[in-house]
Amino acid sequence: MQPATQAWWFAAGRLLVTVLVGCGAGWLLGNTWGGLAVALGLHLAWVLANLFRLEWWLRHRSYADPPNTGGVWGEIIAQIVRLHRRKRFHKQRFVQLMRQLQRSTAALPDGVVILNAQREIVWFNLMAARLLNLRRTADLGMRIENLLREPAVVRYLAGSDYSNPIVIRPANGDDSYLSLQVAPYGDGQLLLLVRDVSRQMRLEAVRRDFVANASHELRSPLTVVSGYLETLAQDPSLEGDLKGPVAEMRRQADRMTAIIRDLLELSRLEETNEIVGGAPVDVAAVISMLRKDVLARPSHPADVSVSVESDAQLIGDEPEIHSAFSNLVDNAAKYTPADGSLGIRWWVDAEGGHFSVTDTGIGIPPEHIPRLTERFYRVDAGRARATGGSGLGLAIVKHVLQRHGASLEVTSAQGVGSTFTAHFPPARVSVPVRTPVAAAG
Ligand code: ADP
Repeated sequence: MQPATQAWWFAAGRLLVTVLVGCGAGWLLGNTWGGLAVALGLHLAWVLANLFRLEWWLRHRSYADPPNTGGVWGEIIAQIVRLHRRKRFHKQRFVQLMRQLQRSTAALPDGVVILNAQREIVWFNLMAARLLNLRRTADLGMRIENLLREPAVVRYLAGSDYSNPIVIRPANGDDSYLSLQVAPYGDGQLLLLVRDVSRQMRLEAVRRDFVANASHELRSPLTVVSGYLETLAQDPSLEGDLKGPVAEMRRQADRMTAIIRDLLELSRLEETNEIVGGAPVDVAAVISMLRKDVLARPSHPADVSVSVESDAQLIGDEPEIHSAFSNLVDNAAKYTPADGSLGIRWWVDAEGGHFSVTDTGIGIPPEHIPRLTERFYRVDAGRARATGGSGLGLAIVKHVLQRHGASLEVTSAQGVGSTFTAHFPPARVSVPVRTPVAAAG
């Protein structure tokens, strides 16, 4: 038999004995009911006394020992003691876990801020406090946008695309850069990761300056060499067997000039990675110019078609837009045989403005497509060199599109052809307002 059940039998037995003794004593004294009432009263008083001891102990259990009672009361007290011990054990484990978590996040080299669905700060670690200048208690519960009044941060948090971090310059006056990345979790909560990227940014600036300076320094001597080579090539006294090497030297000097020009353009684009504003650009006029340029090439695809499906203009920086579109058209012309075709298209829909260049050229194997916009990345280095490309064209396209909030989509099949499409957001498209022509009266 279980101890609890045993205790209940014992309690029932005790009550029965009390009743019997009370009744017996009452009967002997001539009042059975009176005896029973006295016995039950005593029993009730004993139950109340036990209840009082139990309640007193529960209130003072942190320092008082449990009352020493047996039977059902002892069982109840034993159960309470067991529950209490289990609760204390779980609490200790939880506190230990919390301490470990706090210590590990404090040791993190990155700042971590937990934001609730209203973008209010729920918690942050030491590094976040240091990097973002947050104060332990005062800033808890504050909206993060109110503390980091950077428009880029406000825009980033208001959006829903957190796939890439943003880099900001905190307003503390020193030459530091912070990278912020949001990781959404749970019910609209956000984990904001903050990292000091000042070193990387400085190295990046050194690299950019070096490339820009080197290109700039190389430009002048190359102009002199190219000039002499041109004069030499036109010199009638040039011996026949030197004509070939001089022509090749001129071709290579032209290639170097193209590489240096593109490197300088890339450095200029990289100098500020900011989104450019700009004015409305007449896409139809740009396309018509690009078509003329293709047709002026010594060799070009036989069929060059143009489809301007909207007279909407593109808001941006005209020279940059021209440079990006011209690189795409130039590539299509370079990598398409003379009997192929090239199509340029501009159209506008609910998703924005789209500029595409389609060719029936050599195409690109799928594994190369994700890497095309890297500097000097070529699918077939030999062929690309033969076509005189700098290897920087698509890197320039990527930068220009980024600065216009646009994206590049490449679809291609080897031996069939390729389509390069630049997708511009609706905010970049401006539909010209036409003044209605007054009816002749
Ligand atoms: P390049 O000056 O070598 O053309 P780009 O950056 O413009 O450099 O292009 C990178 C590489 O992408 C090229 O070398 C070529 O292999 C490939 N490519 C670009 N456009 C096309 C195209 N329309 N058809 C086939 N391959 C292309």
